[in-house]
Amino acid sequence: MAFVVRIDHTKCSGNGSCCNVCPVEIYEKPHDGKCWVKKEKIKKPIKEKNMQGGACPECIGCTACVSACPAQAITIEEEK
Ligand code: SF4
Ligand code: SF4
Repeated sequence: MAFVVRIDHTKCSGNGSCCNVCPVEIYEKPHDGKCWVKKEKIKKPIKEKNMQGGACPECIGCTACVSACPAQAITIEEEK
């Protein structure tokens, strides 16, 4: 099972909180004012405007990143 990790770049302020809490280091350090899901962690990228991320087999769905994000920019859902 994988979880789909989705970052809304219209909301992300790039403060890096998500990078600091993820136990499986899904996120890159912020650059260009945004954070990013590491390419090598993505099995199937999402292709939606202003969204970055995709299905990540290593994500355990703990939602620590969602709780840590001050901008409500992250969503985690089970891959269908
Ligand atoms: S839900 Fe947990 S494991 Fe998945 S990206 Fe967020 S912090 Fe990392
Ligand atoms: S915690 Fe939220 S606002 Fe901060 S870098 Fe991560 S996604 Fe962006």
